[in-house]
Amino acid sequence: MRVLMVSVEIAPFAKVGGLGDVVTALSRELARRGHDVRVVLPLYGHLDRKALGIRPVKSLPPLSVRVEGRVHDIRFHALARGARGVKIHLVESDLFAGEDIYLDGEDASKTLARTALHTQAALMLPRLLDWPVDIIHAHDATTVPALVYRRQWWAGREMPGIGATVLTIHNLAHQEVHASGDAAVLELPASLASYPGLLEFGGKLNLLKGGIAAADAVNTVSPTYARETVEDAEIGCGLSGVLAGRGEAYRGILNGADYGTWDPRRDRCLAATYSVRKMAGKAACRAALCDELGLDVAPNRPLCGLVGRLVEQKGVDLVTPLLDRLAGDGFGFVVLGTGEERFMAALRDAAGRHPDKVAAITAFDEDLAHRIYAGSDLFLMPSRFEPCGLSQMYALRYGTPPVVRRTGGLADTVIDATDAAGTGFVFESARPDELLAALRRAEALMADTKAWTALQRRGMGCAWDWSVAAAGYEDLYASALAATGS
Ligand code: ADP
Repeated sequence: MRVLMVSVEIAPFAKVGGLGDVVTALSRELARRGHDVRVVLPLYGHLDRKALGIRPVKSLPPLSVRVEGRVHDIRFHALARGARGVKIHLVESDLFAGEDIYLDGEDASKTLARTALHTQAALMLPRLLDWPVDIIHAHDATTVPALVYRRQWWAGREMPGIGATVLTIHNLAHQEVHASGDAAVLELPASLASYPGLLEFGGKLNLLKGGIAAADAVNTVSPTYARETVEDAEIGCGLSGVLAGRGEAYRGILNGADYGTWDPRRDRCLAATYSVRKMAGKAACRAALCDELGLDVAPNRPLCGLVGRLVEQKGVDLVTPLLDRLAGDGFGFVVLGTGEERFMAALRDAAGRHPDKVAAITAFDEDLAHRIYAGSDLFLMPSRFEPCGLSQMYALRYGTPPVVRRTGGLADTVIDATDAAGTGFVFESARPDELLAALRRAEALMADTKAWTALQRRGMGCAWDWSVAAAGYEDLYASALAATGS
């Protein structure tokens, strides 16, 4: 099949979280399985064009696109290196000249304009390349206009060369809600924006809702989260009914993990490599991580790692109240993340109070993330909700049992240590005392070296291969095409 992925992130060079990892790994796996896959994303100003081998595509002429009532010049570029079988198209425009992948709330109108431009450019590609596509695969709310424009063109203008559309929801909480008048920024008629069967939701313009309505098939990234989004009003963030309304056209496909990038046997970021059979290197990674961050955590005390966006979703506020007490008990903590200032400040303060037990690195650092997955004894992921979560999958592969809340993809991937097949520690409610109890259970099990090593080994043996997830997407694509009668 010919598949055009439309995304605002792609790992490793334009990544904020799991979305970037998924787009890269899924695209590569589909290409490996013989599909013709291309990705189209904005050419962000911060990308190092020389280092990445980004060049204008001479065969594609400069074009203009109309958004927010203005004409913008665009130019398609391509990535010369590192794409492994997947062609990457980058859209150059004045709207992306700034640094950020996501703009903060005040720039809502610019976000919408960027979205409009990116997706209009994406829809031009099949015709420009003389490459009719079977599937337009949009990722998250920021690319939904691709699905809506296609509907509109279908009804009115000619929109040749597209078989069916698919929307993957990586996080239902991010819906891109705008004032209904902002439809003008998208160059959509007001009637379309206020049409209740499409973008309108609660009197506003809601991109994600429009995408759920417009796509031929919709999925999210784990079976449990798919169920929760329909059954649990809080997790459904207002859209439970809309999702339920799609019936069988909405499903959960568990993400895979890219074990080519995340593998302790051949990870170049580590002080030492190790495997399920030869684990010695893990202790060397732990020692090196402590050295690197100036920590002094006794080998028999748990060193807890956390890598992730520091936002309420991730349950950071369950961790911070425990830091003083556990640091006093000899636990160590390494937190790598960026996000809300209140969380970053609380973590930095704790690191100031316990410099040899708590390290807080408020930055984005891919290599350090690898060293934390490898060097920690436990990985903390007490999320309030979690569409899939990749970090816990990486932690498992690095022999670092995760401590997680039973929600979404965490429930689908981590088995509590009380089970004979256990791989980590699972707790129920989003409360610090429940997290504490799980950490105490982990602490107790760590003292039993044999049981601990068995737990680590079971986790390292878990494999969520992208081939399984990609087969799920092939099936989803087939059902989307069937829905259109293609
Ligand atoms: P989400 O998509 O909700 O952010 P996931 O667990 O699916 O959560 O994916 C998070 C990805 O982002 C992982 O690859 C994780 O290692 C990475 N990550 C998050 N924050 C940072 C950071 N500050 N530095 C390096 N990598 C990070």
